[in-house]
Amino acid sequence: MRLRNKPWAKERIEQHPQYIVANPEQHKGNWAEVFDNNHPIHIEVGTGKGQFITEMAKANPDINYMGIEIYDSVIVAALDRLIEADLPNLRLLNVNAADLAKYFTKNDIDRVYLNFSDPWPKTRHEKRRLTYKDFLKLYEDILVDGGEIHFKTDNQGLFEYSLMSFSAYGLLLKYVSLDFHKSDYEGNIMTEYEQKFSEMGNRIYRCEVKYQN
Ligand code: SAM
Repeated sequence: MRLRNKPWAKERIEQHPQYIVANPEQHKGNWAEVFDNNHPIHIEVGTGKGQFITEMAKANPDINYMGIEIYDSVIVAALDRLIEADLPNLRLLNVNAADLAKYFTKNDIDRVYLNFSDPWPKTRHEKRRLTYKDFLKLYEDILVDGGEIHFKTDNQGLFEYSLMSFSAYGLLLKYVSLDFHKSDYEGNIMTEYEQKFSEMGNRIYRCEVKYQN
């Protein structure tokens, strides 16, 4: 993700607490009050400019979605999308995924989406990968029993690493495609990166894994 400094981003975020949740720690264990219903909640960790999560929310009005993005200069693009779409079942969180446990507790979340996560190819940066075992523990601690992670990437190295990390953690592999766009999967919603990289001819990898608790 190319980052441009946007000094106005913080102020713009603060002006839209109905879309980018202010003080998310106050809703820990009670996110139903934010959405005003008890529908399942799916989160995308590293939502970027929000194309995937916005289109998912449009397509599935009975599921609540949250896009989690660390950079304010990036999440403002997702905010623009959300203002335009004005969806009652979508919120954004401008936080670091490493702090998920501050905002969510067990059973708050039904599914985690990881799309085109930063690969951090150097071994010394393994702990930053969003599929590293410490992150898998964080997700487990906020998901319902039997909750799922759905993961897409064009990065073969990250995909292979992630399959091994999921397996070592004891996650159950429900679905895997090593060339997702050539598979017979119907109803795929593309992310920005997926669109860009598949247009460049890159192969897309996808899997669904499930916690066995
Ligand atoms: N998911 C989008 C897509 O597929 O088009 C964006 C992919 S982009 C490569 C990865 C995004 O994850 C970036 O916007 C980055 O800022 C965000 N990100 C990386 N680490 C994060 C973290 N620890 N917490 C929240 N967001 C993070």
